[in-house]
Amino acid sequence: MGCSVAYRLAKSDVRVLVLEKSVPGAEASSAAAGILGPSVESFRDAFALQLGRRSRELHAELADELDERFGVDVGLRRCGVIRLAFEEAEQVEVDAHAAALRMNGVQCDRWTREELLLEEPSCNPEARGALHVAEDAQVEPKKLLSAVALGAEHEGAVFRTGSAVRNIVVDGGRARGVHVDGEIIEADRVVVAAGSWTTLIPGIRLDADTIYPVRGQMLATYTRPPIFRRIVFGAGGYVVTRPDGRVLCGSTEERVGFARGITFGGMAEVIHRAQRIAPALKNAPVQDHWSSFRPGTPDGLPLVGETHVARLLLASGHYRNGILLAPLTAELIADAIADKPPSREAQALSPRRFEETD
Ligand SMILES: Cc1cc2nc3c(=O)[nH]c(=O)nc-3n(C[C@H](O)[C@H](O)[C@H](O)COP(=O)(O)OP(=O)(O)OC[C@H]3O[C@@H](n4cnc5c(N)ncnc54)[C@H](O)[C@@H]3O)c2cc1C
Repeated sequence: MGCSVAYRLAKSDVRVLVLEKSVPGAEASSAAAGILGPSVESFRDAFALQLGRRSRELHAELADELDERFGVDVGLRRCGVIRLAFEEAEQVEVDAHAAALRMNGVQCDRWTREELLLEEPSCNPEARGALHVAEDAQVEPKKLLSAVALGAEHEGAVFRTGSAVRNIVVDGGRARGVHVDGEIIEADRVVVAAGSWTTLIPGIRLDADTIYPVRGQMLATYTRPPIFRRIVFGAGGYVVTRPDGRVLCGSTEERVGFARGITFGGMAEVIHRAQRIAPALKNAPVQDHWSSFRPGTPDGLPLVGETHVARLLLASGHYRNGILLAPLTAELIADAIADKPPSREAQALSPRRFEETD
């Protein structure tokens, strides 16, 4: 969020200083699988679905721009997604899923087992069928992060790594800057994009339960040839295949505070789900594993925009969809900073819906 907002603002000639306690991309954003999949993630909520679809289209524009301007390929591929149904009851859920998508104007196909295996032969033949959505995509988060940070610096944004913000300086009901290691840095506006750590920063008037960490463990392997063409969801997990054969398997959702690490139980869960999707992964080598913290919120939507403290803005709480929603978030923050009248999206995502007022 920090890098995306910085790039977008710097392009509008806003002077930007990014303060990062570690290095950009140190946390959730580098851990993400890079699924741009609103049709699976948000089909239950028409508003969230529409937000995700809009942001996914902004990704396409952003990817072209980063390629044209800086020659960086962020790995955006409109590969499509599949959701498998194993049990009878899941077939019914997948039918309802397809109906919800169609009602919201998303084109999708219902595949029989035979059609599924023709399209993706490595899928488990025990699947009774699948839902296919062609419009969803993937991106490579680490490539995206470094490209967006590069773009921001190119546009004049300054990054200070190793700079932990201690608190927000508030005076006369408005933000005046931040405290960083004994130094006060004045600013006309402060945008907090601290992910799961947002509510820990003094000056933010939110309960710890408003943005909370949800640990996700991931595992990477590779296959030759690449095991799937599309992103495959099923059995409570997902498998994302990169064109070079790298395979990312995810993921757990654990409320364990900020406890870092990988657990036997977490890996067992991820492995079990991935093998249920693709039995052939049984023989694939474990290449890497990691975990990080998704910033969860009570209503599943992020907190984006100005708070009750004037000139203090949040870009946080994006839970499972922060990579997807980054370009849209950057647009909304840029609009707020330009004092544009709030759009319907901006109103719905306003942090004020959760804030404690005096
Ligand atoms: C395993 C996993 C898989 C995921 N897969 C996907 C996916 O496929 N698609 C998708 O769209 N989303 C995915 N997500 C979610 C996505 O990664 C997050 O929603 C998104 O990265 C959140 O971005 P952020 O910038 O808010 O937080 P982060 O990336 O966590 O960044 C917050 C930054 O703030 C810094 N910071 C914190 N406190 C301070 C302070 N006091 N001072 C200075 N700096 C501070 C941290 O060092 C950190 O760099 C996944 C998440 C996980 C964990």
